[in-house]
Amino acid sequence: MRRLQVAVVGSGPAGLYSAEALIKQSAVLDPPCAIRVDVVDRLPTPYGLVRYGVAPDHKSIKSIAEKLRTVLEHDSVSFLGGVHLGNDVTREDLLASYDAVVYATGAMRDRRMGIPGEDLPGSVAATDFVNWYSGHPDVDPGTFTLDAESVAVIGVGNVAVDVARILARNPEDLRETDVSQPVLDALMASKVREVHLIGRRGPAQAKFTTKELRELGELDGVEVVVYGGEVDLDAFDPTGGSARLAEADRHVRGNYTVIREWAGRRVTGGARRLFIRFWQRPTEIHGPRRVSGLTLERTRLDDSGKFTGTDFYDTLNVDMVLRSVGYQSVPLAGVPFDDRSYVVPNAEGRVLGQDGSPLPGEYVAGWLKRGPSGVIGTNKSDAAQTVQWLLADLAGGPGPEGEHASGNGQVPGHGQVAGNGQMPVAPGYPAPGYPAAPGYPDAGPGPGARASFEELLAARGIRPVSYADWQKIENAEKELAAALRRGARVKLGSREEIHRACGMAMR
Ligand code: NAP
Repeated sequence: MRRLQVAVVGSGPAGLYSAEALIKQSAVLDPPCAIRVDVVDRLPTPYGLVRYGVAPDHKSIKSIAEKLRTVLEHDSVSFLGGVHLGNDVTREDLLASYDAVVYATGAMRDRRMGIPGEDLPGSVAATDFVNWYSGHPDVDPGTFTLDAESVAVIGVGNVAVDVARILARNPEDLRETDVSQPVLDALMASKVREVHLIGRRGPAQAKFTTKELRELGELDGVEVVVYGGEVDLDAFDPTGGSARLAEADRHVRGNYTVIREWAGRRVTGGARRLFIRFWQRPTEIHGPRRVSGLTLERTRLDDSGKFTGTDFYDTLNVDMVLRSVGYQSVPLAGVPFDDRSYVVPNAEGRVLGQDGSPLPGEYVAGWLKRGPSGVIGTNKSDAAQTVQWLLADLAGGPGPEGEHASGNGQVPGHGQVAGNGQMPVAPGYPAPGYPAAPGYPDAGPGPGARASFEELLAARGIRPVSYADWQKIENAEKELAAALRRGARVKLGSREEIHRACGMAMR
């Protein structure tokens, strides 16, 4: 039977959905193909953004980890945590050890606003704040003391909503969550009384989703304040496009209904206040030694619907600025990367080389493939598409449904199919549906036919964190929760504690 050994780099949703798709799709191949998937992650813990991105109070989204667990527990899957592509192993090591590699490392860097004062103490990236409250092993639990009374959160996407909610909500509500004890203590001692969520365009253009937005109005002791003038859909948009969107687009209509209701409320003065502002763009963060204010310029759309400034400025007295203006992927050592779109250049998940043709054995999935968009579930179909191509290329799979090889040897740009709507065959690959790629005979490489990755790691003194090690970490989290009388589990406070829990030395 043909055998395929695949490394998936990244154990977040995109990586684990790729592993799941590899198992499911390979199981129905004819002729059959046995598959082994090693899921490699630089962190000692799996689940990526589900563990270190989804807010602790979003328990139902966090429970996706329970579904992803079944992938890691599958007989054909191994977890190799604490192995860094770049520091520990190279792309060439992976390609020499496996038949194929799927890169699924997500988007972990923040975007910048490019305004003066952005690097002052007190001006921070939402990614750092999210990593902190999520107990990310890279972040010192003492990083944030929250002695600011007034905080501006820039951006009106779902990450900004998460950050604003965690800052504004009563920390007692987080006691039953998995938030680490040092983080809970810092939130308990927080002096934050006002949070300003700042949108550079209007409510019709805001990126947050209605469910997440509505939740802000349900927080105990938090008053949401919206200025009526800023939600007038025609006042800042002479094209009438915003009003049309609020009628025709279900997402916009949902958001706008919630926002308009808040704008109509009488302000009473809650214990903590959450201002949601529109048509304001940050132009400068003031110091001198740390953040003392934020200048905002009033914006509007012009007659052609283009976003523009108006030269009217206002300064907000804030002591902290959190920019939540989107995530970016970071390049992986040696792997092609598009510096403009911040993704790995690809055609439906096949990694493209400099000349635009697919690189044999290299695939990409998730945010690294398409940019930071969509919800967690979006990564499932995205990963399935990548895996369809992988199996078509290497194991005689049929390729994505509805796509047929044109055989002209040309490859479209990333995420596109050729103008004729067909996915061309990559040079050096068989047409989808053919039995196997050149160099991958029917017998398959088999165990030992390629360098054993674990042997290579051992030779470098690297012992990966196994799934059994991860279970020890989980047990330590459950024991900690019981000892603290807090919920089902509490995250360990630091990388040292994580390593101690699974008996691994720090490297
Ligand atoms: P996002 O949805 O792209 O939102 C980014 C926000 O930043 C937009 O409002 C954008 O405004 C604004 N922005 C960009 N550059 C700016 C600048 N220079 N100055 C001021 N504002 C600026 O990104 P995100 O919030 O990071 O979310 C990433 C993805 O994760 C999204 O798909 C999101 O839905 C998902 N997510 C989902 C959940 C959930 O389901 N609960 C939670 C968190 C994240 P413009 O529109 O004007 O560019």
